[in-house]
Amino acid sequence: MKVSALEIPITRTNQSRLPEVDFNNLPFGSVFSDHMFLADYYDGAWQDARVVPYGPLSLEPAAKVFHYGQEVFEGMKAYKDKEGQVWLFRPLENQRRLNKSASRLMIPELPEAIFMEGLKTLLRTDSDWIPTVAGSSLYIRPFLFASGNGFHASPSDRYTFVIATAPSGAYFAGEVHVRIEEKYSRAANGGVGYAKAGGNYAGQFYPTQLAKEAGFQQVIWTDDNTHEYIEEAGAMNIFVRIGDTLLTSPTSDRILDGITRKSILELAEAEGIPTEVRKISVSEIVEASKKGQLKEMFGAGTAAVVSPISGYGYRDERFDLPEVADSYATFFKKRITDIQYNRSEDPFGWRYPVS
Ligand SMILES: *Cc1c(COP(=O)(O)O)cnc(C)c1O
Repeated sequence: MKVSALEIPITRTNQSRLPEVDFNNLPFGSVFSDHMFLADYYDGAWQDARVVPYGPLSLEPAAKVFHYGQEVFEGMKAYKDKEGQVWLFRPLENQRRLNKSASRLMIPELPEAIFMEGLKTLLRTDSDWIPTVAGSSLYIRPFLFASGNGFHASPSDRYTFVIATAPSGAYFAGEVHVRIEEKYSRAANGGVGYAKAGGNYAGQFYPTQLAKEAGFQQVIWTDDNTHEYIEEAGAMNIFVRIGDTLLTSPTSDRILDGITRKSILELAEAEGIPTEVRKISVSEIVEASKKGQLKEMFGAGTAAVVSPISGYGYRDERFDLPEVADSYATFFKKRITDIQYNRSEDPFGWRYPVS
């Protein structure tokens, strides 16, 4: 489909909620902008791309998404620089990943033009919703789901694509202590762990709640087979610093191929930070802790960019991480956000202007 061939009609709200928003006290992801982008799949094609006022969707109780969880999503952000120019960060990576997730869930792939033109049209329509207060951004949630009806467990013949946005303050989790999980698993070989499929996150809530009751904020997922190797930090990719070496687990069936993770690895390489992408065993981490060589652990993902971990629990032991002066977490967060907000050069070509 030619990009220019895509006509996207815009129906504007006649009652903007913008005056009610306190941009100096924005929560994360719970105030929604005036408009949303929609497209539908039926008769074998994606069609009816449109921007409409944000509001309830009309679905029948038999809509398959309610019964079989045929749904995938993305998470991204738009940033406004000092001149008022709007930027995205590696948006084509999100577009490709959405389709990779969709294929696994038997959802028809969405053409790149609908994703990109829909997103840009929505951002232009709601450009006043993109915050300028330091650390804040417009969180973007594209998602695809089965909107066709039927109680039989089979793929739908109808799907809906939505992009909704939420002006959001800086994501701040407070001190994060994590529990290394040995009973529950987030994902399994041959499963859907690499897809951003809604059910993966529903499945995390219960074990995460148990960890909270035990005094932790988050779970470190280990491999489902042996529980000997760490895989992800909640819904973020995991990084560990032992000595001055940066370690992260290789992506697989079970691990989400994060864009933040990928960006950190590219920055580390450019910076000459010794990096190893390999399986990381829990015993290696505990041993490094005991020898004083475990300097940092952090999660990486779009919402927080980098989320430092203050300590971890494994079986009956608890370990605290030291305060480090030359923190990798701080370094990567600054490098990435400087690029995102157009405060620095962009040697990798990651910034994408929305005009
Ligand atoms: C979204 C997500 C990430 C991070 O991906 P980004 O592209 O960096 O936002 C990591 N792990 C899981 C399980 C995720 O859902």
